[in-house]
Amino acid sequence: MNQNTLQKILIALAILICIFIGVKKFDGTNFMNTQSNNNKVELNTNVASSRMTYGRFLEYLEMGWIKQVDLYDNSRNAIVQASSPELGDRPQAIRVEIPVGASQLIQKLKDSNIDFDAHPVAQKNIYVTIASNLLLPIIFITSLIFFFQNSENFSSNSGSSPMNLGESPANYEPRPDTGISFSDIAGIDEAKAEFEEIVSFLKEPEKYTIVGAKIPKGVLLVGPPGTGKTLLAKAIANEANVPFYSVAGSEFVEMFIGIGAARIRDLFNRASETTPCIIFIDEIDAVGRERGSGIGGGNDEREQTLNQLLTEMDGFKENKGVIVVGATNRADILDAALLRPGRFDRQITVPLPDRRGRIDILKVHARNKPLEKDVSIVKLATRTPGFSGADLANLLNEAAILATRYKKSTISKKEVEEAADRIIGGIAGTEMDDQKNKRLIAYHEVGHAIVGSVLRDHDEVEKITLVPRGGAKGLTWFTPNEDQTLISRSQLLARIITNIAGWVTEKIIFGDPEVTTGASNDLQQLTGIARNMVTRYGMSNIGPIALEDENNEQIFPNYSSQNPDNLADRVDKEVVKIINYCEEKATEIILENRVVIDFIVEKLLESETLEGEEFRNLVNEYTTLPAKETYEYA
Ligand code: ATP
Repeated sequence: MNQNTLQKILIALAILICIFIGVKKFDGTNFMNTQSNNNKVELNTNVASSRMTYGRFLEYLEMGWIKQVDLYDNSRNAIVQASSPELGDRPQAIRVEIPVGASQLIQKLKDSNIDFDAHPVAQKNIYVTIASNLLLPIIFITSLIFFFQNSENFSSNSGSSPMNLGESPANYEPRPDTGISFSDIAGIDEAKAEFEEIVSFLKEPEKYTIVGAKIPKGVLLVGPPGTGKTLLAKAIANEANVPFYSVAGSEFVEMFIGIGAARIRDLFNRASETTPCIIFIDEIDAVGRERGSGIGGGNDEREQTLNQLLTEMDGFKENKGVIVVGATNRADILDAALLRPGRFDRQITVPLPDRRGRIDILKVHARNKPLEKDVSIVKLATRTPGFSGADLANLLNEAAILATRYKKSTISKKEVEEAADRIIGGIAGTEMDDQKNKRLIAYHEVGHAIVGSVLRDHDEVEKITLVPRGGAKGLTWFTPNEDQTLISRSQLLARIITNIAGWVTEKIIFGDPEVTTGASNDLQQLTGIARNMVTRYGMSNIGPIALEDENNEQIFPNYSSQNPDNLADRVDKEVVKIINYCEEKATEIILENRVVIDFIVEKLLESETLEGEEFRNLVNEYTTLPAKETYEYA
């Protein structure tokens, strides 16, 4: 028996059950709620909420307390109007059930001279009543049928009912017009080139198949957030001009086992009917995480979903037209089976852009923005190492919003700088009133700036400010001339010396008891750098051993517990040694340059903010800093 026939039988059965229920209900008593013709009295629980036994009713009759009687339902029920001292002498409507065979009642009423009336059954409303009595069961039973029908579809995954849980949640665009082309993507040229090739696969497959090349089934984009992975998928959809299915991996994750797998099946079924096409699965790690991992060793629903994805990506061997593009920030947690050739044949890394890339991305996002001549894209790109494409887009957008706020029709350097400051340092707070602390913060910041300027391996000062931002009361920014991919030991030492310089300056100028909590963040950072030098980079006397990973999780077995070499103690001693050395060097530089520090502090207190160039001019005007030197510690 096919599903349709079964469905029809179920519906017919439901209707029969409903009619049966409705007719059963229509056996008389229920219709007493209908209004009598003469509207005199209704047998309605609202009207006659009290009841009285037939025996009691006869007693009332004898006592002369009954005023009127209305008979219903062929004299099986009555509403009597009674008034008695028991009822507070107030007339009340009381319902009485008349026993079968109480044939003397009419005579008794006549004898007692009671006003009575008999009301016929309200036949006229029968259809309305049947309808209203049938409606609820019909709705209920039809809902049940729908539910079972959906469960059927969900397990067989063939249906497309709107309530179908197993239906894929993917957005489908037959001819996508995402508005994104490859020219809108910058700074990730290698990834772009790979994708341009896939577009060419989709447009001219013969060109490849003639030489025996197969279209890749899957392409995995791996990279930090905001680097343009979704943008690449949108561009490929637009440029290849083939149907495009987009879905987030998390949309397959459900509580009930089997739903995710059914959705994957449905997605691939639909896609195989519209080849050539692209399926884009964002956050693929939500379904593709290694099996057997997680709390309790795995999750049945997720693993079934992943198994289904693995099967489907093997399953369209004959069909050369479905390309799956996955995107993730974490390729390391994906199941190995997903990454093998034949599934995601290609893995494309989409890194954070370098300086050149940032310049290109900024140019893309500056296209529709009226930038004034004083805005230097190159300088902005230099100031923003570590920024993703999304951060850079956001920066220019912030600048445009600021320009609007200042009622300007163009964007100047001021708005761009302010936007960068907001994104790097946080929103500006209110100026500090406390002059004593303001002076202390000025010394702290100028201490960082002077020490950073003296060290050969340190970045240039970008800006010093006493305007509070984020959690900081003042800030000194340094900008590298170029992106640093590898950092040397002397550069790390220079960072620690510059970092500790704020605290050292407070101590020298104001004395030990006046040192504040303002340096806590610096101390945390510099301790982290020193610890990494010892435990990860082999830059201490302990030698080239990696004791911890980048999350400071121990990778050298038991080094922090009791260990014959006492490695944990040696690590701590090395960290302290590095920091002590850096403190000494910072103290030396501050003492040597005390005079210029006092001078710059006064200038900073006057102007609140000194740009890098201003700072350098002031220093040169006043003194010549010692030749830049590299500090080495043994
Ligand atoms: P996530 O991993 O968080 O999903 P993603 O890598 O998919 O991030 P996208 O959504 O593609 O990042 O990028 C967000 C926005 O950032 C884009 O809409 C675009 O405005 C901008 N953007 C990111 N990368 C680039 C780029 N390489 N070129 C131009 N614009 C970019």
